[in-house]
Amino acid sequence: MGYCEFQIPFFIEGVKVETAQMAVGTEFHEHAEKMEREIAVVVPLTKTELEDKKADLNFIREDIQTSFILEFELMHGKARLELLGRADKVMRQKETLIISDDKHTYNPSRHDFMKKPYDNQLLQVLAYLHSMYYLGDSVGWAEIPHEKKAYQVNIIDSKTGSVYKTYENVVGSKDAELLFGNALRFTQKCLQWDELVHHNSKARCKSCGYFDDCSKALR
Ligand code: SF4
Repeated sequence: MGYCEFQIPFFIEGVKVETAQMAVGTEFHEHAEKMEREIAVVVPLTKTELEDKKADLNFIREDIQTSFILEFELMHGKARLELLGRADKVMRQKETLIISDDKHTYNPSRHDFMKKPYDNQLLQVLAYLHSMYYLGDSVGWAEIPHEKKAYQVNIIDSKTGSVYKTYENVVGSKDAELLFGNALRFTQKCLQWDELVHHNSKARCKSCGYFDDCSKALR
């Protein structure tokens, strides 16, 4: 929703693409996960520890599956949105649930004057923050109790592999409105109860993995 609504039909058809930048990102993620697994001391999570908001938790990278579910009663009927994902990094520190996500770009200086990540990046971490989490066989699917929610979006320079900038914010009611508003519109657009709207940006189309196959691409 944050990048382009015309990607929705491709998602529905299950068409997957991987741009050169995404391939670099995948390689980085796999390497970071391997490194962390090599050095981490893993201890089983207990229900008592999970329920204690004051207990800090630090889950291994890419180890937590997420499930974001919303149900709507709309003019056209009932709808249920279910998004499954895998968060890069999940932590609880000082009673704050933190989702950290890495985003790769060959042009990190675009972020120099931005105060927040792009909408698509923000919506992704917000969805993770409002999800249920699969916390291993002993706990199963559960919420992670907390007082506050926060995100970290790390902008990684694809040329150097180093962090160029980190957006860190505690999530407020405006973020929740953004997430739930977009989730509703996304559901309606998936069901063709609402029209897809074009962003009219040639630059976005040029960077989009669906460019070659998209009849709505601006060329
Ligand atoms: S090519 Fe352009 S219009 Fe088509 S899905 Fe990509 S960004 Fe959207």
